[in-house]
Amino acid sequence: MTLSKYNEKRNFQRTPEPAGKLSGKSASGDRIFVVQKHRATQLHYDFRLEFNGSLLSWAVPKGPSPDPSVKRLAMQVEDHPLDYADFEGVIPEAEYGGGTVMVWDKGTWTPESADPAAALEKGDFKFTLHGKKLHGSWVLVRTRGFGGSSKPTWLLIKHRDQFASTDDLTQMRPKSILSNRLLADIARDGHGDVEKAATGDPQPAKKKAHAAKLKNPAKSKS
Ligand code: MN
Repeated sequence: MTLSKYNEKRNFQRTPEPAGKLSGKSASGDRIFVVQKHRATQLHYDFRLEFNGSLLSWAVPKGPSPDPSVKRLAMQVEDHPLDYADFEGVIPEAEYGGGTVMVWDKGTWTPESADPAAALEKGDFKFTLHGKKLHGSWVLVRTRGFGGSSKPTWLLIKHRDQFASTDDLTQMRPKSILSNRLLADIARDGHGDVEKAATGDPQPAKKKAHAAKLKNPAKSKS
């Protein structure tokens, strides 16, 4: 477990992100997880699990789905420092990962096997999430790779349990669990690119169409 890749990629004079140092267990003793919605070059959700003093990290382009029939691509990226779990704000556009970051969900996780290190190594990693939006049993399964990418490729899949659903959580619950802000609000407050950030928020055109349908149900029936 090392944070050297994390530190190599960033200039801490220029980015507000925390510098990487390994920590002991978090104060409560529970392992934390966080999902950060990140409007960088491409919109993605960074899924992070505390493990041995840092955050194992995967970039999930479409975000987690609570639907067990949906497999979400998850590209493993460099480990992040534990402090990163509370980072929400604007990374300057010229820097690595430039764009707006939101804490989309956060909570604790528990491994479902006696030896989580072995499960990770094997590429079949089962765990339970206790978050504000994400709950219940999930698995990360390593695959053979995707499009010649050098990054390890995994699939993030919900297991069938009482928390499984076909709800589109990323659309239904688009705000920060820390500050109740949308990406555009975070960008505005952090003097970032508001227009770019807003493209990661639910689109107002869809909202209006939906509102019109609710206002005038007779019209949509005909
Ligand atoms: Mn990211």
